[in-house]
Amino acid sequence: MWRISLIYIALCGCPIGLSAIELSSREYEHLEALYLHLHENPELSLNEKHTAARMASELSGLGFEVTEKFGGTGVVAVLSNGAGPTILIRADMDALPVREQTGLPYASSVLITTSDGRPQPVMHACGHDVHMTVMVGTARQLVVSRHRWTGTIIMIAQPAEELGVGANAMIKAGLFTKFPRPDFNLALHVSASIPAGKVGYIAGPALANVDSLDITVHGIGGHGAYPHSVRDPIVLSAQIVTALQTIVSRELSPLEPAVLSVGSIHGGHKHNVIPDKVNMQLTLRSYTSAVRLQMIGAIKRITKNLAIAAGIPADRMPEVLIKDEYTPVAYNDPDLMHRLAAIFRGEIGAANVIESSPVMGGEDFGRYGQVKPKIPSVIYWLGAVDRALYKKSQTNGEPLPSLHSPLFAPEYGITIRTGVTVMTAAALNLLRDID
Ligand SMILES: [Zn+2]
Ligand SMILES: [Zn+2]
Repeated sequence: MWRISLIYIALCGCPIGLSAIELSSREYEHLEALYLHLHENPELSLNEKHTAARMASELSGLGFEVTEKFGGTGVVAVLSNGAGPTILIRADMDALPVREQTGLPYASSVLITTSDGRPQPVMHACGHDVHMTVMVGTARQLVVSRHRWTGTIIMIAQPAEELGVGANAMIKAGLFTKFPRPDFNLALHVSASIPAGKVGYIAGPALANVDSLDITVHGIGGHGAYPHSVRDPIVLSAQIVTALQTIVSRELSPLEPAVLSVGSIHGGHKHNVIPDKVNMQLTLRSYTSAVRLQMIGAIKRITKNLAIAAGIPADRMPEVLIKDEYTPVAYNDPDLMHRLAAIFRGEIGAANVIESSPVMGGEDFGRYGQVKPKIPSVIYWLGAVDRALYKKSQTNGEPLPSLHSPLFAPEYGITIRTGVTVMTAAALNLLRDID
């Protein structure tokens, strides 16, 4: 296995490009083994049982007080080290229903059976295995350097980020009342567009509001040869899909970011039978609640009025269901983000710390900061793209595999090292430094 060796020095005041946080080769080997284990054994959202048990044992082995099965499969680990600030570091645990196609020797071959009996491959295609490995690596660094700080660290392994429900479940289970309340919340997410060895950050809104919507378009089914005697929900759905595109392009201000994508459409089973309904699944992305509500209102208006135009009876109007998987904007506290970005520059060099732009992706980490009273929170990007692949893509314009792609393959060695370095530095900066 190819490994990175980096030059580290042991004390602060380090020159640009060198880190004050030393990761010995023995330490790295532990993390590499953990990463490979997690990558080879992915579990879907709400089923992160073995993953959670591994997180619990890693953290309890370091002396953290561990609570398991918190908000589902969640793990909360607390390490108290005297008076001082409390910081929370979060990693998410769930993988995706994706068949890995990286061809790597450690590629996932996990195949589960769904509740309706279908085989379903599973893959860590969103890098949550990296997030967990970095969190454990950070915990290990903070434990060995506990003479350098005082305060309390809370590490949480969160279920079901991909469904947008895990953070909410942990908060509702009493994360901020049953454990010390954090002064700061921290997290990272791997980036599929930033090369390994670098980090990206955004001060302010960083990730979008995400809504999932189901639309059921009703019609009156019948024989495909007698269209005049039916009300065809397939033709109506086609009109709806097209008309929905005008919400972003014609109704919203061009200065407001928004996305409306129809990700799934299903209706009918046979060539010559017009079905009586079509089901659609949409994702909506926005950055303000005004835009979010405007989009939802427009979807209801367009579906209903196109159904009326198609002659659908009043008792069969389309149904628009907004799922409770809603994920709010992830807002990075600007003061905290700028403070940490300066720390990152000192650790890995200014050239390796990139100010990024907000994206329309979503992250339920945002919920941890939006409790009352608010907790200053930041989530930043950890570059994960193989550096040779990145260079090639810059030259030939070939797109890089995105997050959730079956081809997504972090250059994990340097990614993990950089992740542990910057997260540990952030934590040490926020905890009371007693040097
Ligand atoms: Zn994801
Ligand atoms: Zn993710």
